[in-house]
Amino acid sequence: MRISVDHEKLENFSQNHVKFYLKYSSFVFKALKKPSFQKFLRWMLKKEKIEAQIVRAVQVKVLPFRRKNGNGVAGKCNTARGRIRIYPKTIKFCQIFKQKFGRNNLLAYAGNRARAALIHELLHLKYAEDEKTVRELAQDYFCTFTQKQCSQSARSLFIYTMIFNTKISGKKAPSNGSNAPRTKLMLNETCLRASGFFR
Ligand SMILES: [Zn+2]
Repeated sequence: MRISVDHEKLENFSQNHVKFYLKYSSFVFKALKKPSFQKFLRWMLKKEKIEAQIVRAVQVKVLPFRRKNGNGVAGKCNTARGRIRIYPKTIKFCQIFKQKFGRNNLLAYAGNRARAALIHELLHLKYAEDEKTVRELAQDYFCTFTQKQCSQSARSLFIYTMIFNTKISGKKAPSNGSNAPRTKLMLNETCLRASGFFR
């Protein structure tokens, strides 16, 4: 599986932002290339009977991508070309996350969000437009992977909850035109859900 970082034009961004997003993308690149994860993906592709060759390229994008409704996108798949793109969270989101949950949880979240996104997009190569099936399977596979890594540590449960509930709450969050309060709202919702999970 060929994975590369797609360096976009960053000239309109402040030095701080450029530094942040470059660091983020190289971290995600390493998380996706990790031998244990690559081994897992080979197993998953085999199990799903997805030919490894149809995955032409996996691009780690440096800049985040938003839909017109303001929701952030974790990944995209061009099924005809077999090309997958993985997008980061925004700097704003990461700053709030870091303040609330600390640097180590942010790193674990960012790496695993990208892994979950890649699993999801790979499944689209087989299930195309069947979003429901892709979501269910992606959740199961991601769960299998994290359980293999560290058997049910508090952090992996936390990260799992964050990744899959953030997406759901992100859909429900009202769009008010400004990104900052929405990010906070999403984090608060996630936080409540995550703490409920530990009870
Ligand atoms: Zn999808």
